[in-house]
Amino acid sequence: MSVGRLADIVINRPVKGPFTYIVPEGLKDDVKVGSCVEVSFGYKNIAGYVVGFSSDSDIKNLKPIIRVLDKAPLIDETLLKLTKWISEYYYSSWGEAISAAIPAVLKRSAKASRLGKLKESDEAVEEFIDGSGEHLAPSREQKQALDSIIARIDDRTHKVFLLHGVTGSGKTEVYLQAISHALDKGYSSIVLVPEISLTPQTVARFKARFGDEIAVLHSQLLGSKRASEWGRIVSGKARIVVGARSAIFAPVKDLGLVVVDEEHETSYKQEDVPRYNARDVAIKRAELSGAIAILGSATPSLESFYAAKQGKYELVELSERIDFRLLPEVEVVDMREELTRVKKLLIFSQNLSAWIAKDVSEGKQVILFLNRRGFSTFISCRKCGYVLTCKRCNVSLTYHFYTKKLSCHHCNYKMDPPEICPECNSAYVRYWGMGTEKVESEAHRLFPSARIARMDTDAMRKRGAHEKVLSKFKAHKIDILIGTQMIAKGLDFPKVTLVGIISADVALNLPDFRAGERTFDLLTQVAGRAGRSDLGGRVIIQTYTPSHYAIQAAKTHDYNSFSARELSLRKELYLPPFCHMVTLTFKGYKEDKVIKAAEALRQRIEKEDNSGKINLMGPAPAPISRIKGLYHWNIFLKSDKVPDIVSLLEKVLGNKRKEKGIIVAVDVDPY
Ligand code: ADP
Ligand code: ZN
Ligand code: ZN
Repeated sequence: MSVGRLADIVINRPVKGPFTYIVPEGLKDDVKVGSCVEVSFGYKNIAGYVVGFSSDSDIKNLKPIIRVLDKAPLIDETLLKLTKWISEYYYSSWGEAISAAIPAVLKRSAKASRLGKLKESDEAVEEFIDGSGEHLAPSREQKQALDSIIARIDDRTHKVFLLHGVTGSGKTEVYLQAISHALDKGYSSIVLVPEISLTPQTVARFKARFGDEIAVLHSQLLGSKRASEWGRIVSGKARIVVGARSAIFAPVKDLGLVVVDEEHETSYKQEDVPRYNARDVAIKRAELSGAIAILGSATPSLESFYAAKQGKYELVELSERIDFRLLPEVEVVDMREELTRVKKLLIFSQNLSAWIAKDVSEGKQVILFLNRRGFSTFISCRKCGYVLTCKRCNVSLTYHFYTKKLSCHHCNYKMDPPEICPECNSAYVRYWGMGTEKVESEAHRLFPSARIARMDTDAMRKRGAHEKVLSKFKAHKIDILIGTQMIAKGLDFPKVTLVGIISADVALNLPDFRAGERTFDLLTQVAGRAGRSDLGGRVIIQTYTPSHYAIQAAKTHDYNSFSARELSLRKELYLPPFCHMVTLTFKGYKEDKVIKAAEALRQRIEKEDNSGKINLMGPAPAPISRIKGLYHWNIFLKSDKVPDIVSLLEKVLGNKRKEKGIIVAVDVDPY
C-alpha cells in the first residue's frame, strides 16, 4: 500500500499498540499526527490518537478509521514525544499517557460531546491582588539568581536550576522576572503550583504582573472555562500558564521556561495510571523543548538536592529573607515533660497557650497546625480494649463532632458512635487522640473572645470556601486559623506572628522511609508562615520526640544539616535518591489469593532476572493492609535505573493489570 494510507493509532487502554488502521480516501486530509479519531477495537468503537503513519503492514483485514473526532490535532510533536516517554518510564500505555495529557472536556468520547451543558466558573483571586504590577527591585541574592537564569534563557539551551530559598526569600519574584524576560524574548512559560485553590495569593501575584497573558488551569475549573483557557493557550493569546499537575501538558508554543514551585510536594504525583510525577515530566518537557526548568523550594526534595550536588542541576540559593527579616524563632516543647508536670494529656502546652493569649490580645494573628482532621482519632473500649475499625478498611474510625458520626478517612464509611462496646457490651467506650476539630473546640474554650476558623477538607467542602476563609483572615476578621496541611503553603500574611504546631509527631510516625523528610518539610513550611513582617515571629513545636534530627534541624532552620544526615541514611539503606524504586501492589478480596499472586510474581522475577542489578523485597502487607474491602500486598524493586526494572516487568508482567483476578498496580518512583 502507498505511503500515508495507514495510520498508527494508540488507545486509552492498557494495551501496547500502536495499532494500524486504514485511512479512508475521504478522510485523507483530516487525519493528522495528533488527531483524535474513532476506531473499532474488539467489539467496540472507541477514541484513539494518531501517533504516526506507515506505508506497509503485514496484517491482513485491516480496519478503516471510522471518523475524525477533532479536526485540529489535540497534541503536537513535543507532547507526543513527552507522552511516549511517560508511557515508557511510568509503565503505562502510550494511549493512556496521551489521554492524561488532554483535558477531559476536549476528549470527545465516541459518544456525543457534553460541552454545551457546562457552566462558567467564578474566580475569586482578584481580592488578593496587592500592590502594582511592577517588578520589585531585586535583592542582591535575587539578582544573582536571575543573572544565571536569564543567561541560560538567552542561550536557549536546556538546563535545570534548583532554586533553594528560605521561606520569604522572594522566590516568586525570581520566577516572575525570569518569566518576564522569557516573554520579552518571545518564549512562553509554564508555572506549576501544588494546588491552585490553596494558593490564591500566588496566582494573584501572577495576574497582577501579567494580566491577560496568564491562563490558569486547575482541577476545579469547570469544563467550558477549561476549554476556553485551553483555547487562549493554543491561539497564543495566553503565553504564561499557571496550573496544577496536568498544566505541564498545556499546548504552549515556543516554551522557554518551566517553573515548578514547591517542587518537593507530593501532590505533583498522579495517583492513577499513568502515575507520573509532574516535576519530572516538567524537566523532560523542558529538555525536549530546549527550555529552562526552575525547581523552587525552601525544602528541596532529596532527589533534587542530590542531583544538584552531583552537578546535574545548578543550585541557586536565596539564604536570606527579603529585607533581611529574621526567620522566626522556633521553640520545641517536650510534651512528655508537660505530661509529667500537669498529669494530663493537653492539647495546648502552657507555653503555647500563653503565647496565643498574648499575641491575640495584642492584635496579632495566629496559625495552629495539626495534620489530622476530625475530633477524636480513635474510639476504644476501656474494659476489653476493642478499637472501632472500618468494616472495609484496616483503619480506626475517626469521630467527627459536627456530623456526630464515626467516619473512615479511606472509604468514607460512616456510622453512629456506639454507646456500649460492640464486643463486650460494657459502657466504657472512650474517645482518644485529637484532630483539628478538637483543637478548634479547645481553642474556643481557652480563648473565648478570639475569632477562630478551621481550614481542612471537612470545613472546605464548598467551592470557593478556601478563598473566603483566607480573605477573612487577610482582613483580620479571624484571629486564630486552625488547619491541616492546607494552611502550610504559600500564605503570606504580615500579621501572623505565631505559628503553633500542635503535634510534630503525626508525620514522623508514618510508616514511610520519607517520614523524616516529610516532617522537616512540613515544619519548615508551616513555620515559614510566621514573622513575615517587622512584627517578627515565633514558632512553637509540640512533640513527644524532641530530639529527633528532623525536629532539631527544623528548629534551627538548617536544611543542610538535615539533608546531610538524611542522605547518609538513605545511602546506607540503598534508598532514593541512591536508587529508583518501583512498587507493585497486588489487590484482591481474598487475602490468600493476593499473597499467592504476589509470591508467584516474585518467583518469576527471581527466575528472569540475572542482571544482578535489581534488589527485590516483599511481598509484604501494605501499611494499610485493607482498603474498601481489598487486601493490599506490595513487592518493592530497587535499581540504579528505572529502565532496568521496567524491562524486567515487561517480561514477567507484560501489559497485564490483572493476575488471576488480582489487580496489579505498578508505581514507578512512588511516594
Ligand atoms: P517565597 O516565595 O520565597 O516564600 P515570596 O516571593 O513570597 O517569598 O516573597 C516574600 C515577600 O517579600 C513577599 O511579600 C514579596 O512581595 C516580597 N518581596 C519579594 N521580593 C522583593 C523585593 N525584591 N523587594 C521587596 N519585596 C520583595
Ligand atoms: Zn469492650
Ligand atoms: Zn473504610
